[in-house]
Amino acid sequence: MNRKVIIIGSGPAGLTAALYTARANLKPLVFEGNQPGGQLTITTDVENYPGFPDGIMGPDLMESFRKQAVRFGAECHFKNVTKVDLNKKPYKIWVGDETFNAESLIIATGASAKMLGLDSERVLMGYGVSACATCDGFFFKDKKVLVVGGGDSAMEEATYLTKFASEVVIIHRRDKFRASKIMIDRTMSNPKISVLWNKTINEILGSQEKGVSGVLLKDTISGESNEEVCDGVFMAIGHKPNTDLFSGVLDMDEFGYLKTKDGSTETNLEGIFACGDVQDNIYRQAVTAAGTGCMSAIDAERYLESLHN
Ligand code: NAP
Repeated sequence: MNRKVIIIGSGPAGLTAALYTARANLKPLVFEGNQPGGQLTITTDVENYPGFPDGIMGPDLMESFRKQAVRFGAECHFKNVTKVDLNKKPYKIWVGDETFNAESLIIATGASAKMLGLDSERVLMGYGVSACATCDGFFFKDKKVLVVGGGDSAMEEATYLTKFASEVVIIHRRDKFRASKIMIDRTMSNPKISVLWNKTINEILGSQEKGVSGVLLKDTISGESNEEVCDGVFMAIGHKPNTDLFSGVLDMDEFGYLKTKDGSTETNLEGIFACGDVQDNIYRQAVTAAGTGCMSAIDAERYLESLHN
């Protein structure tokens, strides 16, 4: 099937690109991926998206984005792109056995939560280990949970978890948070939250049958280890861009974020654009993702015009 524009990803960037390309009559096809709506669908209140003075729930915001794009003719499919061939035009995209050709491609695959990389973390994921407080916090009513990290996500997750948990302990590897002041103040003034500074988790204890029972902590200064009893562990240590599909073909920075040209969202390949968290390691906000999604759509429209004129 031949398409003028295929969009991979359905967070604020992908759906804004869909809205703009749909309104430009380019009939975009959107592959929504594993998590339609992107990272905002696993958050609760979004307080900093302009236009919503009382805040809005993340899933509701993304549903509005989707409806608005569909209203102008965007076609959204709850499907995952499994392979791409970007070596020649038209660009080829696979969804399992199905193939699609695209004259231009907008990549808005976003980023995913990072994990510590421990075997015990993998085994206990979903059995007391989580990377999403809003998804799993409910299961920790009156329990003690740990939150790993020192950025805004860790502050947000810790605060959210106090709705359910009896005690929340933040584990941070340094003696200073990198989170914003307002988030730190809100977190530190919550009586249910405490912090263990200069600690890393060496092992998560427990079993799939009984859940998490504790962690082995290591002090980053003294090197000493100790056990901390808890019922759950939430990872909030940042994100990794979802760019595995494009490795070796599209230019990336040292962390795997797609590189785009100055003053444009075009990648190193003609007609392939990147927007949102997949190419933004600095701002990573819904509103900036939506902004670059709009830019990608305009760039794609101009590129297609240049081909057909
Ligand atoms: P981040 O700012 O990159 O913070 C990650 C934290 O995890 C850092 O404190 C880091 O420690 C720690 N960390 C990283 N790898 C680790 C490891 N292997 N073991 C232990 N600790 C580790 O990520 P983020 O908190 O997800 O925030 C990302 C962006 O989204 C930021 O720009 C943030 O402002 C934004 N954000 C905003 C909001 C909001 O405004 N509502 C909410 C969430 C996120 P070090 O400090 O030692 O590096």
